[in-house]
Amino acid sequence: MKLVAICDLDGTLLDSDEALVEAFVALGIDRSTVSFGHVIGEECKRLGIRVEDYVAVYDEEKVQPFTGVTEMIGRLGRWAVCSNKHPESGHAELNRLGWRPEEVFFTDSFDGPKSLGPVLAAMQLDPAGVVYLGDTAHDRECARQANVTFALAGWNPRAIAEPTDVVLSEPGELLGLLGF
Ligand SMILES: [Mg+2]
Repeated sequence: MKLVAICDLDGTLLDSDEALVEAFVALGIDRSTVSFGHVIGEECKRLGIRVEDYVAVYDEEKVQPFTGVTEMIGRLGRWAVCSNKHPESGHAELNRLGWRPEEVFFTDSFDGPKSLGPVLAAMQLDPAGVVYLGDTAHDRECARQANVTFALAGWNPRAIAEPTDVVLSEPGELLGLLGF
């Protein structure tokens, strides 16, 4: 039986670091103070800007998938997105790329940081049948809390591996891990 992929979006499927930073810079924030992998509303609050202003300047047309992601997505069976991204930006990007995950959980789906439990429930999945693909320590922790295997998007140079990670060096390797 093939495993099901739940994927983070920013920094995992999408090479979005620069677009995320540029939106903050456009609002007068020093780029060196921006960090990644947080609930967007919390990062805006930390940096002293309104999330509505952030979403307004974020360029939904700019971000591209990492090399090999589009081909990998095209070969997946059941898959889902679980991301701390703002739903307006996130849905616009999914639509532009033509990606149709079975379930999409953005920051509006959670009262706080994302977690995988609601995704597993919505898809009626056993944790043993799932891989969570992500790029940050928070993603790793989400997987651990849900007893789901964590795979690190090693193609993102910012991603730092821990000894327990399954580290993927290119997106197509996810297919092998899932049993395709
Ligand atoms: Mg990420």
